[in-house]
Amino acid sequence: MTGTRQRSLHQAAVDQFQRAADLIDLNEAYREILSYPKNEIIVNFPVALDDGTRKVFTGYRIQHNNLLGPYKGGLRFHQDVDLDEVKALAAWMTFKTALVGVPFGGAKGGVTIDPAGYSDDEMRRVVRRFTHALGSNIGPDHDIPAPDMGTSSKTMDWVMDTYANISPPGFRHSVKGVVTGKSIEVGGSVGREEATGRGVLYSLRHWCGETGSRLDELTAAVQGFGNVGGHFCELAAEAGVTITGVSDHTGTITNEDGIDIAKLRLWSAENGGIDGFPGAEAVDTEALFALPIDVFVPAALENQITVERAAKLRCSLIIEAANGPTAADAEPILADRAIEIVPDILANAGGVIVSYFEWLQNKSARAWSFADVDERLRDLVWQAHDRVVERRRQLDCTRREAAYVVALDRIADVYDRRGIFP
Ligand code: GLU
Repeated sequence: MTGTRQRSLHQAAVDQFQRAADLIDLNEAYREILSYPKNEIIVNFPVALDDGTRKVFTGYRIQHNNLLGPYKGGLRFHQDVDLDEVKALAAWMTFKTALVGVPFGGAKGGVTIDPAGYSDDEMRRVVRRFTHALGSNIGPDHDIPAPDMGTSSKTMDWVMDTYANISPPGFRHSVKGVVTGKSIEVGGSVGREEATGRGVLYSLRHWCGETGSRLDELTAAVQGFGNVGGHFCELAAEAGVTITGVSDHTGTITNEDGIDIAKLRLWSAENGGIDGFPGAEAVDTEALFALPIDVFVPAALENQITVERAAKLRCSLIIEAANGPTAADAEPILADRAIEIVPDILANAGGVIVSYFEWLQNKSARAWSFADVDERLRDLVWQAHDRVVERRRQLDCTRREAAYVVALDRIADVYDRRGIFP
């Protein structure tokens, strides 16, 4: 992967919202507040490894803003996690939750670790010790982590259990909502696992409605076959989209007649990746960015659509399933080439939307049906898109700028009403 990070990712995230802030003449004080995270928590904690030695890991929790509600955002476990990346991801969460209108702020956390290099037992100890180190910096009404790259419902179950065990006995059941994305048995929500992929598909449906296109006439290529990319491929293929290219950390495959996604899911689960799948041709990574398709769906790391790749892409739409997949300097090239972008904070908000539903279910100790979750998810994604389309028309700007404007409208309105303490 060429996830080049010469420039600060956090600075790129700040520049992004500042461009939208210019369009609405946002108050200087609000701009300055939003340019920094409120709290930057860094913990170094020792973990016992299976061979009896101890290793110190570094973990982060960056709390960007909590004006609209408790801090909210995932935990990323990846070898490249660093302070700058987590700060950018935390800021994007603030704008994402504000845009889709869920009552949360923005945060992100992570541990610098390659989970593939550790046993299940070691990972459990890492998660428990990290949670213990964070202590009261997280909480069901304060800061609510969730899964992200390298973490899953299993991770969230361990975080919740650890947090419950360090809580006073009388609170151990009322703290379930300290994390979302738990397994259903432990207090998770139906539909949370595939929620981000489903939200991406609803975004694609909305775009089809706007442009008079049909899902079953579209072709797509997807970078990433993890939770988001994998579920998106499955749901999109069921809806009739022809997926002609997929890549993951093991390889890149193409089939111009369409890849059989159900078979690919099975193959990937059995073989630890898509490499070697018999129903497609293995190609070079860069070939994915040159496929003649309608929709390109980045669902991996940030900064994947570089200047060079932006010049090669042969699609009319990019739906950003990943956070920050388009490098800042690639965006003007895409605009010149009339390639539309549905921005990350809108396209991938399905995950945090269903996290909100899980949190509500935990608070009320009731479980919703899948139909309830799905209908409400679709409504929130749809309303956010409608609002973005409206603001875009009023301001004659890009879809990304309009998405930030919708988020900033809400944030500015609440700052105006509440004032800034003291
Ligand atoms: N990690 C996901 C994201 O980037 C989900 C966050 C959440 O559910 O809190 O949006």
